[in-house]
Amino acid sequence: MRITVIFSPALKNSILATSKRLMNLEHIASSHNIPLTPPDVEVDEYLMKIHSKEHLERVRNLPFFNTAYESVKCVVKAGDAIKDFDLVIVPTSGTGHSAEKDKFRGYSLFNDVAILVEKLKDAGHKRIAVIDTDAHHGNSAAIIGEKTLYLCIAGEPECFEEGMLVCKPARDMTREEYISAFNKTLEILDSYAPEVIVWYFGQDTHFLEYSGMNLNGECYDEMINAALRLANGRKLIVLLASGSREDVFDEIVKCFIITARKIESE
Ligand SMILES: [Zn+2]
Repeated sequence: MRITVIFSPALKNSILATSKRLMNLEHIASSHNIPLTPPDVEVDEYLMKIHSKEHLERVRNLPFFNTAYESVKCVVKAGDAIKDFDLVIVPTSGTGHSAEKDKFRGYSLFNDVAILVEKLKDAGHKRIAVIDTDAHHGNSAAIIGEKTLYLCIAGEPECFEEGMLVCKPARDMTREEYISAFNKTLEILDSYAPEVIVWYFGQDTHFLEYSGMNLNGECYDEMINAALRLANGRKLIVLLASGSREDVFDEIVKCFIITARKIESE
């Protein structure tokens, strides 16, 4: 499995909130011989496809704008890089599945999932599926519409389900119930036969994070193992989103790399 991490030196060097985990990421990637891919792309075209002109004007002076803009570049670059790799890992910051066309929500200035789907369509990928596991339901499916299968297992409040969206609220599930719901969701994903899978991986589902959900490293192990086996022979882009803890972030990245290598060696 050819793996790369989309890595922005500008984000590492300039933005305090994310720089520590990016320093760790640089180290983890180099110790596993994973190449870093810089986000050397233009993105205004994609921002304008997904967001209104008014929204772009409004957010331009916000303190997180530069972070979010750089994060969009990373996500769009992932849409390019996937032609040369099987697994592309993208840490995001200031972008996320919560942003609406005309509104930013929480720490999401731009809807990175919707932007990535747009980029993948442009790059000629026809069958794209998104799996969204976060402590909160997002708005990406509402923006993307019928263009892709969208599978969501998240906390609350529930997505407004329509078209190609399948949503399963998971706030009160036990770990076992969550894994079972995740595996059922992968079956739906498999039967859709996507060329490219986008996994919006919110680390705020971890029990150490702030969202009151209950997953742990063993759950992530199982989920990542199952998803990578399903994605084997296809293409997978992972957007690492939400959460605040560097240790949880490191655990997830290592799990993806080690599991991919293990599957490869079998
Ligand atoms: Zn949902």
